[in-house]
Amino acid sequence: MAADPDVPPARDAHDAALGEVLARTFGFTSLRPLQREAIHAALDGRDALVVMPTGGGKSLCYQVPPLVTGRLAIVVSPLIALMQDQVEGLRLLGYPAAALHGNLAAAEREATRRAVEGGALRLLFVSPERLFQDGFLAWLARFPLGAFAIDEAHCISQWGHDFRPEYRRLAELRERFPAVPFHAFTATATPRVREDIAQQLGLREPVELVGTFDRPNLTYRVQQRYDRAEQAAQAIGRHPGAASIVYCIARKDTESLTEELRARGIAAAAYHAGLEAGTRTQLVEDFRAERLDVVVATVAFGMGIDRSDVRLVVHAGLPKSIEQYQQETGRAGRDGLPAECLLLYSAADAAKWRSIIDRSALEFEADAETVASQHELLQRMHRFAQRPRCRHRTLSEYFGQEYPHADCGACDVCLGEYVPVPDAHVVAQKILSAVARTGQRFGSKHVIDVLRGSQGAKIKERGHDRLSVFGLLAAVDVQRLGNYIDQLVDAGDLERSEGEYPVLVLTKGSHEILRGTREAVLVAPHVAPPPPTSTSTRRDRDRDQGAGRRGARAAAASSALSDDDRALFERLRVLRRGLASELGVPPYLVFSDATLEELARLRPANEAAMLQVKGIGQRKLESFGAAFLAALRAHGAEPALGGD
Ligand code: ADP
Ligand code: ZN
Repeated sequence: MAADPDVPPARDAHDAALGEVLARTFGFTSLRPLQREAIHAALDGRDALVVMPTGGGKSLCYQVPPLVTGRLAIVVSPLIALMQDQVEGLRLLGYPAAALHGNLAAAEREATRRAVEGGALRLLFVSPERLFQDGFLAWLARFPLGAFAIDEAHCISQWGHDFRPEYRRLAELRERFPAVPFHAFTATATPRVREDIAQQLGLREPVELVGTFDRPNLTYRVQQRYDRAEQAAQAIGRHPGAASIVYCIARKDTESLTEELRARGIAAAAYHAGLEAGTRTQLVEDFRAERLDVVVATVAFGMGIDRSDVRLVVHAGLPKSIEQYQQETGRAGRDGLPAECLLLYSAADAAKWRSIIDRSALEFEADAETVASQHELLQRMHRFAQRPRCRHRTLSEYFGQEYPHADCGACDVCLGEYVPVPDAHVVAQKILSAVARTGQRFGSKHVIDVLRGSQGAKIKERGHDRLSVFGLLAAVDVQRLGNYIDQLVDAGDLERSEGEYPVLVLTKGSHEILRGTREAVLVAPHVAPPPPTSTSTRRDRDRDQGAGRRGARAAAASSALSDDDRALFERLRVLRRGLASELGVPPYLVFSDATLEELARLRPANEAAMLQVKGIGQRKLESFGAAFLAALRAHGAEPALGGD
């Protein structure tokens, strides 16, 4: 091993050592492209800024280099729960890792100190508070450190969604350890946050690695909310026995929705910051241990939730920004297997957020620019919900990345769950005429009243009951007409003026539609349950159609298990739960769902074959191999269910 940091060994030597570490410790056969680059940057002793979406595999980037170089790396992480989880997971891999934070018994702290001093550790997780306690940095300086990895690095930026003042002091670290490379990791993609991180941490010509923000294994659905409990229950029903998170805007909604779901026979629990700390900890524990699968929560739930097999995230109300939506939907399918994200929204949600923003602006005397930017973020989110445009494409573009597929095969729009309004063009012309005939001086409420033939005083006063458009769309209900107007505005075929009393005005697009030089398209908002296109039926359909129609993407997201494989998978899950509970760790740390699926599909018959399975390295084979081989054998001895 080359110990001199000034003379980095050749890449080939690195690659050989890397492959060995990867297979032996982690049971992986290959690195993802950005992981390779990040790890090489680290091995070359360079600073790096790594931006990858949740589930992208950031942790491997700082876990691998210390095993290659033999030098200790310090990981700064803001959440004790996440640190603990990672340390437990690493120990199951036989990886020498430990954490130092405020919640440890003295004996444990002492053991960790001795491990560092004895040179046995390769990763040490530290909370930022701990880092700056008396004498800690001086103590650290005694050891030949390989790197500092700053996890959740966006916490250093007030432009991020999770600013933590204690992260600001990390700038001092750099001054204190000028020779040690710094690696920052985040899932927050905006360029402003990225720049802020590099600057605040004093990164030196960092290698910037920005991953793809699209999550191909997630199927996005957006529906107007007409019966939240029914819609949420249907979605949960599409993922029986799987982990689901339902997000609500307000605490009281989490409680009432939980009741409504329970009344439908779903064992759900409410989680919000108003609960006692003990109750909250217990809920998180139950969720991690698979004793509880459905959590109805406010935003307070999630930070620190590392369960990788969440199959469904429902938003029962509109999030306040696309960043927040991406963050929360990001908790689905971290294991790379298919998962669903359902957003239920109504125009009232946006109004509610607007008043929350304005109220807190008054309370905290926020400056006008900050308030305006919050309104802008909300507006973008609302538009995302309203506009029937490929969700994968819209999200990718929001984060500044081009989306390369015409049909994602994994969103309500591309799956054809939207029903086009058959006479859309005529309906649009009637709406636009009503705006024209009333002189482009009214908001949507008045225009809707005219179209529906309202007998209200305002209509009569202005003589609008004598217009040719009066009552032309009397058969369409108010909410739906409002939605059509929103769709026209979204498409740029109508404009809503700014200000306190916005009015509708015509655009170039309006005139094209009125003249008939262009066909208007409107889609029906969901007023009935969508067709049952769960991730599993979609997989079945892809399998039936050889995944041809939807192209390569849906195929990549699919992992069809036959009925018998599925039965075996469930059996392995039970075994995993038992082993995890004996060890006192969450089941996903024993093996991920991805590993269990591969075991169910490949059914290795001996230890050598088992090592070929993704996620099974040497140590896990030793710890769990025999138990899983026995389960596979027992299953094989029974007659198959259904079969392929
Ligand atoms: P992040 O921290 O970016 O959210 P993680 O580090 O938790 O992501 O990784 C997400 C999942 O991907 C984990 O289950 C991890 O085991 C898996 N994973 C990471 N890298 C690889 C790889 N090279 N091959 C296979 N699986 C991987
Ligand atoms: Zn799509």
